[in-house]
Amino acid sequence: MLIDTHCHLDAPEFAADRAAVADAAREAGVAAIVIPAIAPMNFDTVRTLATQVQGGAYALGIHPLFVSEVQDDAIDVLRTAVRAAMDDPRFVAIGEIGLDLFVKAIASGEALARQERFLAAQLRIAAEFDLPVLLHVRRSQDLVYKHVRQVPVAGGIAHAFNGSEQQADRFLAQGLALGVGGAMTFTRALQIRRHAERVGLEHLVLETDAPDIPPAWLDGARPRNAPGEVAGIAQALAELRGDTVETVVRATGETACRQLPRLASLLQQGQG
Ligand SMILES: [Zn+2]
Repeated sequence: MLIDTHCHLDAPEFAADRAAVADAAREAGVAAIVIPAIAPMNFDTVRTLATQVQGGAYALGIHPLFVSEVQDDAIDVLRTAVRAAMDDPRFVAIGEIGLDLFVKAIASGEALARQERFLAAQLRIAAEFDLPVLLHVRRSQDLVYKHVRQVPVAGGIAHAFNGSEQQADRFLAQGLALGVGGAMTFTRALQIRRHAERVGLEHLVLETDAPDIPPAWLDGARPRNAPGEVAGIAQALAELRGDTVETVVRATGETACRQLPRLASLLQQGQG
């Protein structure tokens, strides 16, 4: 099953043609789209949007790049929203959460401490409700791993993973899958392509991160990525591994369903 496990379909880039973008994904064979939240301000948006898209699902969480913008009580707001969402079959994970050490302004001092406090608190919420997590690990694999070890969670996905082999193996040992997307389609992305070749498909899921991280075949000055591109990403992964695209789609779909059991239930019940 072809699943985009990470797509910001609520982003303003899709304001003009969001329904058409979702329809195009459907036509490209995409059976499910997981829409992560970034802060309490878009919790209602992702929840509603998931009901408007066939195979739509959502996650709730506070993205590391928004930790500096939200109120201190955002964690309480999240916990309340999560409790309410547990009855909603389209709610599948805590996310997008993690740490970002790429953006210099928040990569040290109090800003980093605040990122870490928010990550730890959100991991505790995931553990409390037995939910998987969608992790943002940009330049922060070791530090995120430290937190995940301290607060083990019920699986999840290290999204847009771009770490070393050792870092990858530690995440896998912790029961997490690696998300592969547009970055893998660039031949210069040697490290990502090595993981995509080496790691078993039982540890890999597909994602677009649309509208960001456009794959190599989208050109133009500011190309917009879209969830339908996950079909081409599956094809690229198949070519890289020497597998058939059918094998890649089936196995990564199974991995996504294993990591996100509530998504599996949603799709099994035909409510997708
Ligand atoms: Zn994201």
